[in-house]
Amino acid sequence: MKRIGVLTSGGDAPGMNACLRALVLTAHANELEVIGFQRGFNGVIDQEYQTLSPYHVSGIIQDGGTLLKSARCPAMLTEEGLKQAAENLHDLELDALLVIGGDGSFRGCLELAPYYQGKLLGIPGTIDNDVDGSDFSIGFATALDTALDAIDKIRDTADAFERIFLVEVMGRHTGYLAVAAGIAAGAEQIICPELASELDLDKIAEHVEQARKHRGNCSYIIVIAETMYPGGASALAADLEQRGIECRASILGHIQRGGRPVGADRILATKLGAFAVEQLVQGAHLMMAGEINGKAGLYPLALTGDKKKQVDSYLLRWQQQVAQY
Ligand code: ATP
Repeated sequence: MKRIGVLTSGGDAPGMNACLRALVLTAHANELEVIGFQRGFNGVIDQEYQTLSPYHVSGIIQDGGTLLKSARCPAMLTEEGLKQAAENLHDLELDALLVIGGDGSFRGCLELAPYYQGKLLGIPGTIDNDVDGSDFSIGFATALDTALDAIDKIRDTADAFERIFLVEVMGRHTGYLAVAAGIAAGAEQIICPELASELDLDKIAEHVEQARKHRGNCSYIIVIAETMYPGGASALAADLEQRGIECRASILGHIQRGGRPVGADRILATKLGAFAVEQLVQGAHLMMAGEINGKAGLYPLALTGDKKKQVDSYLLRWQQQVAQY
């Protein structure tokens, strides 16, 4: 093995740069050349890349975003795009491609595998934390802290005005971020796909009324995962208002993706970046480098999107029992 490629794909996540740094330094120590592709799989298809040396990754461990930029790449969904990507990887004589992203990006690897003769390895980098085979994905810890910082501030104004707030957090298909942020912020209600596939507005309103009965007029925060309600948190606020519950909607949006990675993300990213390269050298293929119970390990890429990973049901049960008091 002489030369490997790397790209960051899907939604960017804080810690991707720390991962790139670890990966390049480990590759250098193993006498491997690293080619970094721009804008996810687009860089492979459009042949936009650069050689990455330790010099290029020095001083980036603390930066959010990704040095290589990230993007969705619809061309990967076509046979023509997959063939082109494989051809370009062969032309560059790349022995392997490392993909930092979510389970969608890993599906891209699996689709590419029949056409590409080199090895393919994934590293979980997504604020959604919805990848099977790793307790945490790179970026989740930072996104959680960012969401918490915002919700704590919303709590101050909610307290002052005795208001009800709906706070929408990211997570297209899963509620990891919503549950973690809701629990850590002491939210009175959490609305996420794991708790309810359909929303019962009467139940939501009843919970608010019960809480106000126990505690008098007070702040009340509902954390809701995006895509849980048609039209989002603003539409839900309007519909609750029809039921006599006056509330404000606050959509945290893209601030959750940005910012300096917290320590936990830098450490996870460093560990997984280094481990992925070491495993590549030892012949790993179609695997993801993840961390379970604090130990780095390999997990089949084909299983990373199985959605077996559960949000903490113990905490959710507790939340439902006590949140009205
Ligand atoms: P996140 O959930 O954090 O945004 P992700 O990696 O799951 O990360 P996706 O948008 O699902 O994000 O996928 C990223 C890219 O991976 C897609 O734009 C596409 O290039 C590739 N990809 C996803 N699914 C497939 C597929 N079935 N076949 C080929 N390529 C795919």
